[in-house]
Amino acid sequence: MKFVVTSRGDETSNKLQQRIKRYLLDFGLTFDFEEPDIVITVGGDGTLLHAFHRYNHRLEETAFVGIHTGHLGFYADWVPDEVEKLVTHIAKTPYQIVEYPLLEVVIRHADESKSERHLALNECTVKSLEGSLVSNVEIKGDVFEVFRGDGLCISTPSGSTAYNKALGGAILHPSLASIQIAEMASINNRVYRTIGSPLVLPQHHTCLLKPQNKVDLQVTIDHFTLTDKQIKSIQCRVAEEKIRFARFRPFPFWKRVKDSFIGG
Ligand code: NAP
Ligand code: MN
Repeated sequence: MKFVVTSRGDETSNKLQQRIKRYLLDFGLTFDFEEPDIVITVGGDGTLLHAFHRYNHRLEETAFVGIHTGHLGFYADWVPDEVEKLVTHIAKTPYQIVEYPLLEVVIRHADESKSERHLALNECTVKSLEGSLVSNVEIKGDVFEVFRGDGLCISTPSGSTAYNKALGGAILHPSLASIQIAEMASINNRVYRTIGSPLVLPQHHTCLLKPQNKVDLQVTIDHFTLTDKQIKSIQCRVAEEKIRFARFRPFPFWKRVKDSFIGG
């Protein structure tokens, strides 16, 4: 089996990264930076987000597992103390796979040939760089509303505990293949009207954002930021692809939610 270990880059994570690498090499596994079967990340959820984007061209062949050197994470849910147990598991036992849904984002530009497709593990956000964002929101081909406000956040179920949560969105279980649209400070008065509640769309229901004012937009895909004036539309839906996590012991999603936000 081929593996790679990535690190957040701080001293603690780097040391643990080297230890895991040595253990797995001793067990006879092969280090392969280009085509790993398993990607082990050491750091936080941000570290796993980076690794996801590094290997998102071969999601079907790759399993991810995250170790946190800081606070408990949603993707990084193993503690450093468990590392020996984890590497033995990886080396000796066939592991289970759990799959989480992803968000597909297609950004169309005035110049059609520059259209781009992205996959997000957490979310896509759309904001205006000056003034309010004014954007038509189409759902399944029909205009649903004209949004005016700071911006919109379209998240995956596993991303629902990240930015989406700060916007008052619901926490969705990752077994629900869906996307959630949450508003950022919408303007609501006698002239402008938005739904005001987060919306959850099932698979195959496409959300299309068509910005109406000619201002520079700031679009984020997870930790990446794209800035462009010439964006015609941003299309979001549940992706065909999924992320695969290697599962070595049960750690139910609701328990992770409780441990992260409520505490023991
Ligand atoms: P960051 O600024 O270091 O991340 C912000 C925080 O979100 C970190 O504590 C991170 O955990 C945590 N996080 C990431 N994914 C999460 C998830 N699925 N559930 C719960 N918490 C999660 O930047 P980053 O580490 O590169 O992460 C990028 C993410 O930051 C974006 O995808 C977005 O969701 C989030 N963000 C949130 C806000 C907000 O809440 N107002 C604003 C901007 C961005 P770690 O410390 O373990 O990395
Ligand atoms: Mn981070």
